[in-house]
Amino acid sequence: MALERTFAIIKPDAVEKNTIGAVLAKTEEAGFKVRGLRFTHLSRAVAEGFYAVHKARPFFGELVEFMTRGPVVVMVLEREDAVAQWRTLMGATDPKKADEGTLRKLFGANVGENATHGSDSLENAKIEIAYFFAASDVAPGV
Ligand code: GDP
Repeated sequence: MALERTFAIIKPDAVEKNTIGAVLAKTEEAGFKVRGLRFTHLSRAVAEGFYAVHKARPFFGELVEFMTRGPVVVMVLEREDAVAQWRTLMGATDPKKADEGTLRKLFGANVGENATHGSDSLENAKIEIAYFFAASDVAPGV
């Protein structure tokens, strides 16, 4: 297994519920090293750009509304097999279908408001990290 970095977001619903610390605790307990961390409020343009791949989906408008309704925490996370491991820790997109103990089961509400984001491939992780972080705001490494 290779050491990897993935990109993650603590979404507005989880920030509203005061669960930033709880998500970070689970993240660190699961062996991830936080290599970049920033609190930000996404503009409509930034959210639309980030989710451009979903533009044709019927839920795109709802997704952008949700992601811009309050602040988020954006993160760079590192561990072996980080992309797949973070998606396992998050659980299924729909919290109702997510395994017990996963972040979305614990902190998500529904298929839209599901507490966390995680890159779906190493290639996209690199793109998403660069979308949100200057190189100087990420720990040097992988
Ligand atoms: P992910 O990789 O598990 O985050 O899932 P997707 O890439 O399929 O979807 C991206 C995000 O869009 C999800 O995390 C949800 O926040 C949102 N989303 C997905 N499906 C729906 C839906 O049916 N309705 C709404 N409102 N949002 C959705």
